[in-house]
Amino acid sequence: MTDTPARLVFDALNFAALRHRSQRRKGREGAPYVNHLIEVAHVLTRHGVEDPVTLCAAILHDAVEDAEVTAEELVQRFGGVVTSIVLELTDDPDVPRWTTKLAQIEGAPSLSDRAQDIRVADKISNLRGVLTSPPSGWSIERKLAYYAWAEQVVVGCTRARAGLRRTFEDVHASGRAALELQAAHQARRRAVNPEATAPAIPADGPARRSD
Ligand code: ZN
Repeated sequence: MTDTPARLVFDALNFAALRHRSQRRKGREGAPYVNHLIEVAHVLTRHGVEDPVTLCAAILHDAVEDAEVTAEELVQRFGGVVTSIVLELTDDPDVPRWTTKLAQIEGAPSLSDRAQDIRVADKISNLRGVLTSPPSGWSIERKLAYYAWAEQVVVGCTRARAGLRRTFEDVHASGRAALELQAAHQARRRAVNPEATAPAIPADGPARRSD
């Protein structure tokens, strides 16, 4: 039986759904993790990506980092090309989190074209998540810091599709405006009622490295 594009994509989706089955997004809704993977692939298809290799890699982009899937298993199931894209997008598990963040910024320009498209789609999904279903305990300042970091990563993805980059800019601009409004409201509330205590700065919690 030859593999059609639809078969390849649904193989990846089925595999990701199984291997991420016990994971939830950090947002307060605790949505199934696979929703994020579907969203990233969906963002790509809505921007004209039809290449099944890119779509498979998008669906699998967190499999090594977050679901303990090995590169060997990916090669066996999905081949070397999909695996190499997934590995491009996998943060080094042995380095501290802040180094990972810096590495994503510095490494963005040298990602392959397919990996850059996925990186931008991933950040679009994450920015939406931070705004609509933020991780519990994240302050507005932390959300804004995440927005600023994501923007720095995407700036380096110069070979990503123009449409994806535009969508990122739109999502980033509207999200940041909403967060700045929230910050202004918060500052006003504190000015009116200085007794009001600032929300506790949360501990990082069991954050996924892919954030
Ligand atoms: Zn992701």
